Amino acid sequence: MNKIPVTLIPGDGIGPEVVAATRQLIDATGVGIEWIDAEAGASVFKKGIASGVPKETIEAISRTRVVLKGPLETPVGFGEKSANVTLRKLFETFGNLRPVRELPGVPTPFSGRGVDLIVVRENVEDLYAGIEHMQTPGVAQCLKLISAKGCEKIVRLAFEVARAEGRKSVHCATKANIMKLTEGMLKRTFERIAPEYPDIQASHIIIDNCAHQLVKKPEQFEVIVTTNMNGDIISDLSSALIGGLGFAPSANIGNDIAIFEAVHGSAPKYAGKDCINPTAMILSGVMMLRYLQQFEAAALIENAVFATLQEGKALTRDVVGDAKAVGTKAFTAAVLANFGKKPTGFAARAYRPLQVPRVAGGPVVPKQRGLVGLDVFVEAALSPVEVGQKMEAAVAGTHFKLKMVSNRGTMVYPPTGAQTDCVDHWRCRLLMTPADEAQVTAQLAQLLRQVEATGLRWMHIEKLPEFDNARGYTMAQGED
Ligand code: NAP
Repeated sequence: MNKIPVTLIPGDGIGPEVVAATRQLIDATGVGIEWIDAEAGASVFKKGIASGVPKETIEAISRTRVVLKGPLETPVGFGEKSANVTLRKLFETFGNLRPVRELPGVPTPFSGRGVDLIVVRENVEDLYAGIEHMQTPGVAQCLKLISAKGCEKIVRLAFEVARAEGRKSVHCATKANIMKLTEGMLKRTFERIAPEYPDIQASHIIIDNCAHQLVKKPEQFEVIVTTNMNGDIISDLSSALIGGLGFAPSANIGNDIAIFEAVHGSAPKYAGKDCINPTAMILSGVMMLRYLQQFEAAALIENAVFATLQEGKALTRDVVGDAKAVGTKAFTAAVLANFGKKPTGFAARAYRPLQVPRVAGGPVVPKQRGLVGLDVFVEAALSPVEVGQKMEAAVAGTHFKLKMVSNRGTMVYPPTGAQTDCVDHWRCRLLMTPADEAQVTAQLAQLLRQVEATGLRWMHIEKLPEFDNARGYTMAQGED
């Protein structure tokens, strides 16, 4: 029988212990896995490889396409980026699946409620693109980039996950009420695609209410699809509903490559002490087996884990405290001994192969494209009226007209009576009527020279576009 190649990254801290436990159980199922050992994380940073991921590991992953990975430490003081984020981005694992299910034998304040949901988190866009700039010495900016293609991929993945797991509803959780263009793009995409899945009930929920409802009535959720940052937060919140990080598995899913890992980190203070809970990593291995369509082996391990937890004879310290706990190895041995057992009163879910959506999506081409002006951002330690008057002077002799000045999103010029605590970072909205893209470009250099001549320091410009006669920018608070 041909073995299935899988790249195995033990990781840092407690990683090697939880990965060894998972490998031992997977091997014991009889599924033939050819484990390809690879390195990433702290040891690689120490060799001076800034990404934390050496080329041998990249080659191994490109070949095997499936990875079982321990947590990687993000060292402070050396290494540029998190090796975890590097791996997710390098292999375009655009969806992060984080299932959370009440476990037998693990009491929590939510026990008996039937918590059983999965967070489908967008994994490569949003604020995690990490595009940051200091716009002034006192004002920092992080770009929140959300693409139509990225939204379509994650929304379709969420519906496909619902189908693969036999779930009946999907919630899309966004902050579209405030961020109408970015978070709104996910909401609009969700509403456009939902009718293609008539067997699944689709609802939108504002992300802050979603957090509130997750604590108040978590059993109402089956699948939650959301943007990267929101998903990061609500999936950790969700894992606490069922016993914490020791029980939270995850899968990073792409079109060609999938990386399976526990949600938790390297917990360095427990490294090498044979005391941590390997369940999160073992259940990540179960997710991997399902992805590989090894459904029987997945069920064998999952049932044995649940039966072991339910028996309560061999549990780790995070569940029963130091006095009654067994170690990581003894817990794993107990799971192995329970192969073939099933927990009582705990229904198994029937899984079907996950169809990872392939979204072709080229560039979005509008029928109409317009430009009505510019937002010019300037730095100045002045009052709103002084900035407004200087900007009125700066546009003299150009085709631009100053519409308004805002400070941290609130219109402050012409004065509105808003009691804004202004900082030295101003957005000046300049309109050109009639709008003419060529004129805007032609007059830009002159405009910026005149802005500088007034003593204002410009640092950022945004076009004010229209696509298909719809505004491609938002209004300031107080602007009409
Ligand atoms: P962490 O490693 O997840 O540990 C935080 C706490 O969670 C631990 O102190 C422990 O709580 C509990 N915990 C985590 N895993 C557990 C397990 N398997 N069994 C029982 N309890 C467990 O988070 P961190 O301390 O913030 O991060 C440490 C390092 O991991 C950092 O370098 C971080 O960058 C990295 N990290 C990596 C990943 C990843 O590779 N995907 C994810 C997150 C963090 P108690 O102290 O209450 O016992």
